[in-house]
Amino acid sequence: MTKRLLCLFLTLALCFGFAAGARAESGDVIGEAVYTDIVAYINNQPIPSYNVGGYTVVIAEDLRKYGFDVVWDNGTRSLSIAPADDQSFAAGTGIVYKYDGLGVKFADVIQTDITTYLQGEPITAFSIDGSTMVPLNALKAYGEVSFSQELRRADVKISWIPINDNPNPVETKKVSRGVIVLDPGHGRLSGNMSDEQKAADGWIYNSAKGGWGEWRHWKSGTTWQDCGGYGCSGRVTEGGSCWYPIGAGDRKLEPEITLRNCMFAKKYLEEMGYEVRMTRNTNDENPSMTKRLIYCYPDNDTSAAPDADLFVCIHSNAGGGRGSAYIELSGVYDQAGIPSNYADLSNRAGKFINDEIVADTSLSAYMGGCYPYMPELILFCKSPIPIAYIECGFFDNSSDLAILNSEYEQIGKAIASGIDKYINN
Ligand SMILES: [Zn+2]
Ligand SMILES: [Zn+2]
Repeated sequence: MTKRLLCLFLTLALCFGFAAGARAESGDVIGEAVYTDIVAYINNQPIPSYNVGGYTVVIAEDLRKYGFDVVWDNGTRSLSIAPADDQSFAAGTGIVYKYDGLGVKFADVIQTDITTYLQGEPITAFSIDGSTMVPLNALKAYGEVSFSQELRRADVKISWIPINDNPNPVETKKVSRGVIVLDPGHGRLSGNMSDEQKAADGWIYNSAKGGWGEWRHWKSGTTWQDCGGYGCSGRVTEGGSCWYPIGAGDRKLEPEITLRNCMFAKKYLEEMGYEVRMTRNTNDENPSMTKRLIYCYPDNDTSAAPDADLFVCIHSNAGGGRGSAYIELSGVYDQAGIPSNYADLSNRAGKFINDEIVADTSLSAYMGGCYPYMPELILFCKSPIPIAYIECGFFDNSSDLAILNSEYEQIGKAIASGIDKYINN
């Protein structure tokens, strides 16, 4: 059944409008409760709170530790909330979190046949798995409710227990829907970089190979041990060898296009609650592929387990053609730690993203949207997490370039939406 906007139904229950008047059945997912940076207090004791459709909500069962009786009646499928006459103070539930990460889902809201009562009157409430969420402002039936936008604070004052002068701690916690590394392809031309910049950007000087570059693989079964030309999967299809010279990545025009697309993808991903790490933020940088992978790890610590969910390279194509495609992974990838379905996951991500670009922008699909002839890209061979690689339009085709120069916001939004589909499917 399709999710639709929530609406008020009759005077009592909150329900959700479904196509052709069909109603949600018990257990259907009808919305979501998200984390909030608003902290709610009852008589100065903090209580865990979330947000559903703009309401600050608390879990009904928690109210038992804040001066209320919460009584479940199985016969009538009802929950009744009333002042507890046997509580002399609000003990609270312990540490309460103020969340940094707006819009990130805490739980699905599901359709329920349970009715919640305050002072004998049914109220709008929301069911999540195993609990009922009550809008804080419904508690005005029993006391005073106030909100401070400035303090990001909601207060309920009730009369039958005292104000708590030694409240439980409130701590800030970062939450995200997922961690995405966004990689705008290319960067500063190598001829404009000093040796210091090349070294700082992760390039290696190798006189036997004729200068600056990087190794294509890790030693088989490892990460962060460059192959050095042997002991690796060894397949090379990119017109080269285990060694990739820095100049092979020099592009004009493409660096600006890919950075602009990624900046908009970042904006939309962050709005959806993702943590986004960019491999470069300006066109003055040109990190090696190897260096771009450090953002897969917490605090760039490559000795830790990677904590990012997906690495997304955004490029633009050249050399005769039109439209957008993802580059397909196939064959052997033998870096340590990757899942056995690394190539499948990566190709799924590439397809989700490219399909969104083709559906939501004027760019067409190049080669049906999937380019199968470059499975040995350095990033494919070295990434510790699934990776999508998009060649978004042809910057050397004037029609595609006109689209790239006018629809970059839609392209960024489509990239974000494709990533979100991959993460949630
Ligand atoms: Zn190699
Ligand atoms: Zn490129």
